[in-house]
This record gives sequence, structure tokens and C-alpha cells, in this order.
Amino acid sequence: MQVPFDNTYVKLPERFYSKQLPSPVAEPGVIRINDQLADFLGIDSGWLRSEEGLSTVAGNHLPEGADPIATVYAGHQFGSWNPQLGDGRAILLGEVIGKDDQRYDLQLKGAGQTPYSRMGDGRAPLGPVLREYLVSEAMHAFGVRTSRALAAVTTGEPVYREESLPGAVIARVASSHIRIGTVQFFASRQDNEALGLLVDHTLQRHYPGRHNADMTDSEKALALLDEVMRAQAELVASWQMVGFVHGVMNTDNMLLSGETIDYGPCAFMDTYNPEAVFSSIDHGGRYAYRNQPGIAHWNVACLAQALVPVISDDEEVAVEAAKDALEQFPPYFLEANIAGLRKKFGLITENEDDESLAKAFLDLLEAHQLDFTLSFRRLSELAGEEPELNISKLGGFPSAFDDWMNRWQARCQEEQHPERQVQMLGTNPVMIPRNHLIEEAIQQASENESFESFHLLVDQLETPFSQEGKTDKLLKRPRPEEVVRQTFCGT
Ligand code: AMP
Ligand code: MG
Repeated sequence: MQVPFDNTYVKLPERFYSKQLPSPVAEPGVIRINDQLADFLGIDSGWLRSEEGLSTVAGNHLPEGADPIATVYAGHQFGSWNPQLGDGRAILLGEVIGKDDQRYDLQLKGAGQTPYSRMGDGRAPLGPVLREYLVSEAMHAFGVRTSRALAAVTTGEPVYREESLPGAVIARVASSHIRIGTVQFFASRQDNEALGLLVDHTLQRHYPGRHNADMTDSEKALALLDEVMRAQAELVASWQMVGFVHGVMNTDNMLLSGETIDYGPCAFMDTYNPEAVFSSIDHGGRYAYRNQPGIAHWNVACLAQALVPVISDDEEVAVEAAKDALEQFPPYFLEANIAGLRKKFGLITENEDDESLAKAFLDLLEAHQLDFTLSFRRLSELAGEEPELNISKLGGFPSAFDDWMNRWQARCQEEQHPERQVQMLGTNPVMIPRNHLIEEAIQQASENESFESFHLLVDQLETPFSQEGKTDKLLKRPRPEEVVRQTFCGT
């Protein structure tokens, strides 16, 4: 088998999905193949680059062992309930086991219409495919849990949005695509049998340490809720650490595995701004940077509510248990958040003033409109005996930071940490996929069919903690006229 499939989701009852073949495209053309990920999944990258491999990614060829489906789900979109969603432009070819013995979904996004496409064409324009490839692979390099990009191809067909755009398909890999919205779909239909099966499948698949055959359904549901809360809390904390604004944290875009998906309108902040919001459709700032932890809490509350029928037959009992469980979310987030901040500031011990130390730094960044990424990188350089001066020309600190610097240095002196600078340089990236660079790469590809900038960004983002080979252009914040203030879902 060219792709060593081992499919399980398709063995769930047929009301979990629709069998759906990808729709072929006119002329598949390679954009990029992720050799290292292919190898990790037991797929020969040479084959993936062959005509048959590219045809597979484009949806023109069905590899042996694939059992393609579109999965069904529901969800709250910007807080409004939508009872019927599903993979409208994505088709799950099947699952493979990676070299880490974990299971991964292989999904084609932009592979044509499905029963859940509603008015959509099931296709993806080139721009969003490049954005997803770039950003998801960068997130992986940062150590943030995420879906990944195995390959991207052009289709040789136009996609019509407000204008005619080149079409593309991305092969996406994730631990699964089971969403909060998947649970909500069955809960809203009062399909308790399906809910029980989904809980069992998900707990066994993602949290096997919490699963055993003797557990009751209720115990499984509560264990799943607890694990998902922790995973989501840790995920959002890891987003905050790199200044990532997801932009569309609808319950159908939040995976029970705790990986990031749906790189539609996402963006990284340049200047530190807790109110940062980029998505053109997020008028109220619901999904702004500072709201992400609160929204994650809201989302897991939706999950808890959907699990009520599995938690107990007695609704009152179940609701009480769900509420109790949900109280754990804020401490899970705060724990992950302060741990992440300590790493960024080069600390290994715990001091109760650390939160205020971190907040004071962030307040200064905000007041002086400094770049989030470069400021933490500069701080990392200052942590050395003889501070490196690489970044100072791109992002130094004004004298208003002097008091804070003394405070931080005093705090550092409280603990013996010879590896402080190493830790900080390996935690605070020097390069992020900045919006203006992504836009430039997309523009070059869409208008001039040149993928040079795209490849350069992907290559350099493989090592976001190393300055080697990176020009100032890739590192520095955008000039005022280059700042990209708005992003689009691109569906
Ligand atoms: P998203 O905003 O990307 O999370 O998508 C929300 C819903 O719309 C999902 O059910 C998608 O499958 C569906 N959708 C988005 N774009 C398209 C498209 N071009 N064709 C069909 N369905 C789509
Ligand atoms: Mg989505």
C-alpha cells in the first residue's frame, strides 16, 4: 500500500459521516511536499512526488486502502447555533499510524462538494491553502499542537469568490478531526447511542490512559471532558505565548484532541496588543487575543452540556457534575499560562510575584507599542553574561524599561540557572509568519505563479529559534504601510 491506511472512524455507524469520493481536478501541479512528515507517516515521499502521488493529493486518484468520507458535525459559530455543518470541502481519505505509534487522519481540503457543502463549491483558493501550509507548519516548529501540512497542489482550475482565483488542495494531517461540534451534533439530535460511541472512540483514541473497558459511560464522559479541558487550556496558553490569534474559535473548529485547526483568518500580532483581532467578520472582537482563554472556556462548557445525557440519566445530577468539572478550566489555563510565561522570561523556580512581573512587561510593551516577538527575543539576548546584540537594531527597549529590567534581573539572581539564555532562545522565536510576509507570498503565487517567497518562508520557519540564514526582512516588524490589519476566511 502506498499509504498504509488503518481506518477506524469509518467503522462507526453511518450516521457519523457520508461516504464521499473526492471530485477530480483538471491538472494537478505540485506546490510543496513535506518529505519529513511523509516519512513519519510511512509514506514514500518519492511516490508522493510522482504523478500518482500528486493525483492522490489532488483527489484524482484513490490510493489502495482509502475509504473516503465527509464527517458530520454541528456547532456554535460566533455564538450562534448551527445544527447542521460537516466537511463541506474536506474529505477524509483515512487514517495512518505514525512512527510515534499514534493515529493520524489524512484529509484533503478543497477536494470537492459533499452532502454538507450547502451553497459552497467544496473548493479552496490557492491563498488559504498557502496560509494553512505556512502557519500550521510554523506552529509545529514552535511546539504548538496543531494539524499539519503533508502536501499542497494546484488544481489547474479557477475558483470563483468575488473574483476568479487559482484553485488548490491541501493534504492535512491531524490526530483526528473530532470536534466539540461533532459531540454537539449528536446531542442536539438526542442520539444518546451515538454520543456513547463517540465518547468511547475519542477517549480511547486520544486519552488511552484514561480509558478502560470496565468504566461506565458516565465515567468515560467525565474523563473525556476533563482531558479536553486540559488540552484546550494548554493549547490556548501556547497560542498566547506566540501572539497567535486564531480568529474563528467556533465550537466546530475546536478539536477534542487539543490540536489547532482551521487556519482561516488567523494571524500573529506584530505590536503587542491584547485587543488584537484580524478577522474581517469578527466585528465585536469576540475572538480577540485577550478573549481566547474565555472563549475556550465557553466552548468546553458547550461540550459539557452536550455530554449531559451520557453523564447521567438524571439531568439534574448530570448538570451538577458537568458544572463541577468546568470549574477546573480556569486553573488549568492559569497553570499552563504562567508556566509558559516563566519559560519565556527564563525562570525555572516559582515565585508568587512572577505573574505581576510578566504583566508589568506586557503592559510596557503595550504602552510603547513594541513588537511582541522581537521584544522577547531581545530579552533572551540580554539574559546572557555578554548579551548578544543581534536583535537590538530591530527591537531594543526604551529607558522606560529600566526599572522593570532591574526587577527582572533581581528575580533572575534569585535562582541558579546556567541554562537561562539557552532556554529563552529556544522558547522565544526570532521569526514568526508575519501577516505582511504571508500576504506577499500569497500575492506572488496567485498573480505571478511564483512560489519563491512561499518556499523561503516555509524553509526558514522550520527553524524559528535560529537566526541563521534569516535576512532582516524576514525578522523585522512591518513598516506602517506594510501592516496587514485584516484577514479573511477565504472560503
Ligand atoms: P469554516 O469557517 O472554515 O470553519 O467553515 C464552516 C463550514 O462551512 C464548514 O462546515 C465547512 O465545511 C463549510 N465550508 C466552508 N467553505 C466551503 C466551501 N468552499 N464549500 C463548501 N463548504 C464550505
Ligand atoms: Mg471549520
